[in-house]
Amino acid sequence: MCEIKRRDKFFISVSVSVFILIFVLVPMETTHPKRSLALAAASAPEEPETAPFLGVVDPLRPYDSKRLYEDTRTLARFYPEALSVTSIGQSVLGKEIPLLKLGRGERHVLWVGALHAREVMTCAYLLLMAEEYANAYCTSAPYDTYAADKVQWLLDEFTVYLVPMANPDGVDVVTAKGSACVPINTRETWKANANGVNLNRNFPFDWESNTYDGFPNNYLNNKGPSPASEPETLALIALSESEDFEFLVSCHCSGQVLYWRDNKNGVVPGDEFLAQTISGLTGYTMLPSTKIALNGWAGGLENWFRCQYNRPAICLELGLLDTADAVTMAKFYSAEMLNWSVNKNMIWEVLCKISN
Ligand SMILES: [Zn+2]
Repeated sequence: MCEIKRRDKFFISVSVSVFILIFVLVPMETTHPKRSLALAAASAPEEPETAPFLGVVDPLRPYDSKRLYEDTRTLARFYPEALSVTSIGQSVLGKEIPLLKLGRGERHVLWVGALHAREVMTCAYLLLMAEEYANAYCTSAPYDTYAADKVQWLLDEFTVYLVPMANPDGVDVVTAKGSACVPINTRETWKANANGVNLNRNFPFDWESNTYDGFPNNYLNNKGPSPASEPETLALIALSESEDFEFLVSCHCSGQVLYWRDNKNGVVPGDEFLAQTISGLTGYTMLPSTKIALNGWAGGLENWFRCQYNRPAICLELGLLDTADAVTMAKFYSAEMLNWSVNKNMIWEVLCKISN
């Protein structure tokens, strides 16, 4: 008799637990950031390749412009105190180029991703940092070794402008069978925008020195018909002109190195400090000052930014592979690619160092 009662109690207790799990906790995960953080932390696996995500940004699924649009809106809805979303303009094919503003501070800094289409992993990298940082801010939680009060202070002091996908048409060619205005050769290695222009060769900085003018290759080194001929280039220029950015970091994929100075601009105040800060965190090599225009500084975003504002601008080559095939994309968290366990602190670390 006593045994039966115990069994009944056990079944009742299991039923109640299952009810709570299904009808109370699971719905909370999609609507309550703090709960989401706790669940993610509790289920954290040891293998970084399968690390959890808080609920919005899944970096193992390659981004396209549509999912970026949806996820940026969701993030802004989840974390209105920390994040807002707007647009810096439209691509050749009329797709929005989203801008996330993370933080509420008066000091502004700019991070750009996926200027090169196949390096779309940089989009997920910036978005995942945005989600985790906003979550830490909104839940008054510490982040890795950064104390909760430091997290609060940094996002009250700075606003981090994030353009996670500067080239949405190009990314869609790679990950969503998107179209272009020129013939598409190999989707997985496509770098250019829909006009076949390499946007990092299109900025109005010594553009003429790129002697690949008229080069028939439509996806690698085509600098475009004139400086700033592309709407994506113009959108980034307009954003830079409208804000007083202290520095720019443009994220690319391949090499685990930093391009931080070029011979055409020479020394820019603070350039070495910013490069050393990122190199100190990541272990990436600071390359010597770029010595040639061709495939060097001609038409480059960061080179143009240095010239225009006399402020630091870095081309940050994350990871070792710059293809966007499924095998590479699955390596997001690994040391070979985004090295998430270290590089997730990138923006905190830079803001801490420049605020000291
Ligand atoms: Zn690149």
